[in-house]
Amino acid sequence: MKVMQETKSLTDFRVGDLMIPSEKVAHVQLNNPLEHALLVLIKSGYSAVPVLDTSFKLVGTIGKTTILNHVLGLERIEVEKLSDIEVHEIMKSDIPRLTKDDSFIDGLKEVINSPFVCVADDNGYFDGILTRRAILKQLKRNFYA
Ligand code: AMP
Repeated sequence: MKVMQETKSLTDFRVGDLMIPSEKVAHVQLNNPLEHALLVLIKSGYSAVPVLDTSFKLVGTIGKTTILNHVLGLERIEVEKLSDIEVHEIMKSDIPRLTKDDSFIDGLKEVINSPFVCVADDNGYFDGILTRRAILKQLKRNFYA
């Protein structure tokens, strides 16, 4: 007998079902020098990663372009700035955030403007990230099975 598998409707999905959990997310810390952040970004191949404080609360994101713009002087790349400046000085702290309980549509709206959005709990502790890729994959599954 053929067992039909029930397809979960998109409205049944929560952000927590689709996010990459924190333990699999590359991140940097507030007080890391830019040099460390740039290494993490280059080695991982990601364009931006979350920034956490020492208690693993989400405080922002930092990307390659922001770092490179900061060290680009008028005539040369000011490499010394990579060790002099810390992540918190130039990170983006005004970032959108989601919680694990937010709906699929909440997630979809957020990833229209950004390739990924951070997920944190009500106390600010980092839970993971929701990527545009995860949303698109789920949309494809539900429309074309
Ligand atoms: P992707 O959907 O894999 O193309 O990822 C889009 C963006 O999300 C990447 O450029 C990173 O900024 C971020 N990202 C995806 N996966 C991870 C991860 N495991 N750790 C940190 N950032 C990630």
